[in-house]
Amino acid sequence: MKYSKLFGKTSKTDPKDEVSVNAKLLMRGGFIRKEVAGVYNFLPLGLIVLTKIANIVREEMNNAGGQEILLTALQNKSNWQKTGRWDSFDALFKVESRYEAEYALGPTHEEVLVPLVKQLISSYKDLPLSLYQIQTKFRDEPRAKSGILRGREFLMKDLYSFHSDEGDFDKYYKVMKKTYREVFKRCGLDAIETKAGGGSFSKFSHEYQVIAEAGEDEIIYCPGGDFSENVEITEVKEGKECDLGHGPLKKVKVIEVGNIFPLKTRFSEAFDLTFKDKNGKDQLVVMGCYGIGISRLMGTIVEVHHDERGIIWPESVAPFQVHLVGLDLENPDVKDHAEKVYAELQKEKIEVLFDDRENTSAGEKFADCDLIGIPYRVVISKKTEDKLEIKKRSEKEIKFITLPELIKITASN
Ligand code: ATP
Ligand code: MG
Repeated sequence: MKYSKLFGKTSKTDPKDEVSVNAKLLMRGGFIRKEVAGVYNFLPLGLIVLTKIANIVREEMNNAGGQEILLTALQNKSNWQKTGRWDSFDALFKVESRYEAEYALGPTHEEVLVPLVKQLISSYKDLPLSLYQIQTKFRDEPRAKSGILRGREFLMKDLYSFHSDEGDFDKYYKVMKKTYREVFKRCGLDAIETKAGGGSFSKFSHEYQVIAEAGEDEIIYCPGGDFSENVEITEVKEGKECDLGHGPLKKVKVIEVGNIFPLKTRFSEAFDLTFKDKNGKDQLVVMGCYGIGISRLMGTIVEVHHDERGIIWPESVAPFQVHLVGLDLENPDVKDHAEKVYAELQKEKIEVLFDDRENTSAGEKFADCDLIGIPYRVVISKKTEDKLEIKKRSEKEIKFITLPELIKITASN
C-alpha cells in the first residue's frame, strides 16, 4: 500500500472530544473515526488490525472445536420476553418497525441461538456442540468515554457450548481457559485469569484482565501468578501475603478483554432445550458462554503498547510489517531504488506500507512511522545508497542491511 493513496491520514493534534489514549492514538494514526459517542468507523489501517485480531481468535476457536456461524442483529422480541430480559437487560436497544413489530438489537445472542439449536438437535449424539460468531453487538452503555474499549456498537466473539451434563461442561471449560490464554498471548497481551462472580447464572465466572490505567475494573492479584480475583467479589485484601510465598497481593486497575461463564440450564429451561439421553429420557442441555471483545482487544493493545510518540503494534496484529520510508524521492535514482524495494517486498508477500510522498520532510515521515506503529521502519535515501536503514519501532538502534536480509527478518512474521 502506498501512503499517498491510503484512505485516512495521520494528524498531529489530538481529537478535541476524546480523553482515552486508545481513541486519541487510533484517530491520530488514521485507524478509526468517530461517528457518535461510543460508535466508530474503521478505516483501512484499523480494519486490517481488527481483522488480524479476529483471525487469531477464529483460529483458536476452531482449534477448540468451535464451528463458526453468523446470527442476526435484529432479534425476536418474544424470545427476549421468554427469558425475562426484554425488561431486565438495561443496555438493550429496542428497535421499532413501521409494521407494528419491535426487535431487540442484539447485545448478546442466547435468545437467538438457543431456539435455533433446539430446532436442530435432539439426541445425546448431537452433543457436545460448540458454536461461535464474530459479530457486531449493540449496547446502550451509560459511559462511552473510553474509545473502542467501551462502544455502544462493538465487535465481539461469542461462543456458546452445549453439553449433556456438568462433567462434560467442566472439561470444555478447561479447554476454553487454555484457548483464551493462547489468544491473548498471541495478541501480545498478558491477560490475568481472574475469578469473578457469576451474576444471576452461576456462582462464579472467569475474566481475562489486562493491567492498564484505563481499566474500569480492579483486581487483587498475586504477581507470582497463582491468584487473582475481581475486587467486586473478593473478600481478600490488598497486601495479604500470598499463600505460596510470592509476597503481598496487589490491587491494580484492569481492562476485561474476555470472560467465560457457566450458564448451567438458565437458557435451556427458558426455551425447553432438551435432548434424549441413552435411555430415551429427556434431559436439559447444560450450557456455557465465552466472550471476547475484539474491538476492545484492539483498544487494549494500544493502551498497553504505546509511548509518547505513538502506537507500538505487536507483530502479530500490526497493520503492516514494514514501513518503507522514501526520502529524497525527487532524486530519480533514489526513487527508482525505493520503488524496486517496494515491488520486491510485495512479491515476497511481505506486508509493506510505502511512504512515497514527495515534498514531505524526513521529520514528518518519521513522526508518522512512530504514530502508526508498524514494527520495522526501513529508510531509503541519498545517504543509504544501495543499503537499507532499518529500525525497530520498539528499539532505538539503527542498522544498515541488504534487501535479502530484510526479507529474511520480516518473512517469518
Ligand atoms: P463489561 O463488564 O466490561 O461491561 P460485560 O461483562 O458486559 O463487560 P460480556 O457481556 O460478557 O461483557 O461481553 C464479553 C466481552 O465483550 C467482554 O469481556 C468485553 O471484552 C467485551 N465487551 C463488553 N461490553 C463491551 C463494550 N461496550 N464495548 C466493547 N467491548 C465490550
Ligand atoms: Mg457490560
